[in-house]
Amino acid sequence: MTDKPTALVIGAGIGGIATAARLAKKGFRVTVLEKNDKPGGRANQIVQDGHRFDIGPTLFLMPEVFEETYTALGERMADHLDLKRIDPTYKVHFDDGLRLELTANIGSMETQLDRVEPGAFGGFLRYIAEGNKHYKVSLEKFVGRNFRNIFEYFSLANLPLLFQLKTLISHYNNVGSFFKDERLKAAFTFQNMYLGLSPYDAPATFSLLQYTELAEGIWYPIGGMYRVIETLTAIAEKLGVTFVYNAPVKAIQAAGSRVESVETQDGRVWQADTFVGNADLPYIYKELLPSNKESAKLEKKAFTCSTIMFYWGVDKAYPQIAHHNVFLAGKYKDSFDSIFKDRTLPEKPSFYIHAPARTDPSAAPEGQDTLYVLVPVGHMDENNPQDWHALVERARSFVIERIGVEMGITDLREHIKFEIVKTPLTWKEEFNLEKGSAFGLSHNFMQVGYLRPKNRHSQFKNLYFAGASTHPGTGLPIVLLSARLTTERILEEMSTIVVQNMIKANAESAHA
Ligand SMILES: Cc1cc2nc3c(=O)[nH]c(=O)nc-3n(C[C@H](O)[C@H](O)[C@H](O)COP(=O)(O)OP(=O)(O)OC[C@H]3O[C@@H](n4cnc5c(N)ncnc54)[C@H](O)[C@@H]3O)c2cc1C
Repeated sequence: MTDKPTALVIGAGIGGIATAARLAKKGFRVTVLEKNDKPGGRANQIVQDGHRFDIGPTLFLMPEVFEETYTALGERMADHLDLKRIDPTYKVHFDDGLRLELTANIGSMETQLDRVEPGAFGGFLRYIAEGNKHYKVSLEKFVGRNFRNIFEYFSLANLPLLFQLKTLISHYNNVGSFFKDERLKAAFTFQNMYLGLSPYDAPATFSLLQYTELAEGIWYPIGGMYRVIETLTAIAEKLGVTFVYNAPVKAIQAAGSRVESVETQDGRVWQADTFVGNADLPYIYKELLPSNKESAKLEKKAFTCSTIMFYWGVDKAYPQIAHHNVFLAGKYKDSFDSIFKDRTLPEKPSFYIHAPARTDPSAAPEGQDTLYVLVPVGHMDENNPQDWHALVERARSFVIERIGVEMGITDLREHIKFEIVKTPLTWKEEFNLEKGSAFGLSHNFMQVGYLRPKNRHSQFKNLYFAGASTHPGTGLPIVLLSARLTTERILEEMSTIVVQNMIKANAESAHA
């Protein structure tokens, strides 16, 4: 037995693992209940016949945020991750034959951009400078802190910053101040898709993405992105965290203002002082908590898009496919309308290919290739259910045909040894992602900062949230920040309770 405070975390995604480890480091006895048979959630991995795929994240951005997590846990990131910088970051293919290699090499950017639009390089430098400002201000003033009330968020100090960050201007409209050529506007906004957002809806603040990618770099941990999950899980275990796999939670039991226990599907009941929901927040409100008004409100919020994924084990190497490759649709705006308004697969979809063996030969057997294809699609629509089988067939044919035409790869079909497919249905079934939305709640103006679902339940005071659909938002580094903010909030509340109890005890002894 121990008199340590206890915490129970629902879900072993990166947000759950990092929160559990931080709490353990601060003296909690922590148990993590995970529905699946291994940790990682969306940042999981598939290994088959010598081919290693990261199933979701492939871009390691904002290394300093990862570093802060390892440091807070008493470790050095360099002892756990062997990071390689990927440059050029992407090869971008336009449907009219134009190719761009986005790179930190300024000379190469000048030559490439000015060839497309004379003077565009000057626009690029101004754009990156603005992205730098957005990155620094967002991280310090909005993303890296908790907001206790609306007045803190819309405070006199913050209001001018919200304007500076261009939170009310769409990213796509804003990029028009820097470039005229439609292809350049696309080249510097498509990155929003990696957060499941349309550049026509996302705030212009998101130019911070292009800044981080080109200035701070896109990195890749040798061994795959899953190394982050493996190493953080090992650190958490070293700090005393117990992970229980194949343990889906089926209900959270609460009384009055507190959660008392959770029940797993096998009927076991788990008690703790503090509970943290890392599973997708809208799913927790809808499926695990006693019926509540909040879940109906969440249902109406904007969700990010979903993806059709192909993981191909290929018995031939294709060196013409770079580490990161982006193929953009000619009708850029129409393709986002198809995804975000019609909730389907665009007629001519944009897509992304990841070929990790370009950087890390251990991702594929020698002389073979490991290819990951991400095709953005609308999330599930209950009112107008999509025919995912038909959309998968169409997506596959389109991808294979386009890389055939543009890369001269005409024999891919016959070299695919095996294929694993994910659709919005799979995202929902495997990880309980509401609407199969791959990145969680969207980040429009009404769903960021204080306006995003809070990391503490309003009624159940010992129930907290950490993960992509709470503050600050989606993406591995941002979820790591969420874990930090949630831990800080738990510790602050605990210290308030300890102080209140001391005051009460003193008052009682004075009366005695
Ligand atoms: C295709 C794709 C590409 C992406 N690319 C990038 C990228 O390049 N770079 C980047 O930084 N980010 C990327 N992301 C985003 C990033 O993966 C997520 O933001 C992050 O992994 C979310 O972590 P999380 O801990 O919030 O949630 P999750 O990873 O969803 O973890 C939640 C966990 O809870 C578990 N769970 C659910 N229900 C229950 C239950 N009832 N009981 C117990 N456990 C439960 C789930 O199984 C899961 O393990 C990508 C995401 C996707 C899907």
